[in-house]
Amino acid sequence: ELYNKVLELKGNIRVFCRCRPLNSEEVAAGASMAIDFESAREGELTVFSNGIPRRTFKFDSVFSPQANQADVFEDTAAFATSVLDGYNVCIFAYGQTGTGKTFTMEGTKEARGVNYRTLEELFHIIKEREKLFRYEVSVSVLEVYNEQIRDLLVSSSQPTATLEIRQAVEGQHCVQGLVEARVNNVHEAWDVLQTGSTARTVGSTNANDHSSRSHWENLLNNECTRSRLWLVDLAGSERVAKTEVQGERLKETQSINRSLAALGDVIFSLANKSAHTPFRSTKFMLISVSELCFIRNQSPNLG
Ligand code: ADP
Ligand code: MG
Repeated sequence: ELYNKVLELKGNIRVFCRCRPLNSEEVAAGASMAIDFESAREGELTVFSNGIPRRTFKFDSVFSPQANQADVFEDTAAFATSVLDGYNVCIFAYGQTGTGKTFTMEGTKEARGVNYRTLEELFHIIKEREKLFRYEVSVSVLEVYNEQIRDLLVSSSQPTATLEIRQAVEGQHCVQGLVEARVNNVHEAWDVLQTGSTARTVGSTNANDHSSRSHWENLLNNECTRSRLWLVDLAGSERVAKTEVQGERLKETQSINRSLAALGDVIFSLANKSAHTPFRSTKFMLISVSELCFIRNQSPNLG
């Protein structure tokens, strides 16, 4: 019920599709695009093979290989406002390894991605609202690897304790003991994220969650609200055949497959407004996606 209420207030889950340009190997191999971007303009994307249209998918928007980082951000910029209005927001990239998830979310120094741009927008709005609200922002960086949660802001020389999920007030879930670094501007926030990124599990295509938490106070009525923004670079969606890998890699593969399948189940359930949404099936879902169903406080500005 609460979820439907959120949908009515803020609109639906939004799904964007971005196709990266062919890389040099693909060009050298004589590959061509399987998508007609002329027809994709209205969000409808048709996949061709051998010149024959095979399947059509519908998205909120489709970004062609010509779309740059700013074009992509244009469609996600509004989420920064939502966070500062008191809503929990989760932005994640899904796709096979090599399709551009990290490029889209993180980007590069020359071509900043969604993460940086969203944080920049966040602090920009905070500045605009400073006469009305006092915001406090803190950043946490965590990794879910083989269903274990690791705090990436805890230096790796320390024993890598895994963290537990605790049920907090109002049915919300939080990661117990997670470091929350207070930040005052986009540079500080970005520095913390970079620190966390370098501590990832090496050589894996694991899921990483960045969470920016904003805690704010309405200076007119002294009402306090908390909300959270999750920026997630998911593990590659390719299903590795179990026979190809062994040992730790097998465990990792199984964990990724299970987690992404569970994500599919949750999205399917939400899309179909099922009575039961299986958030509990994986830790990633429990801590980030399940949060989207809660409004902490009515916001003064629905944006
Ligand atoms: P993933 O994180 O999904 O495994 P990456 O983001 O690492 O994929 O992208 C794979 C490669 O393709 C990288 O070298 C990246 O710089 C490049 N790339 C991805 N998307 C784009 C894009 N839209 N424009 C130009 N290069 C891109
Ligand atoms: Mg990546």
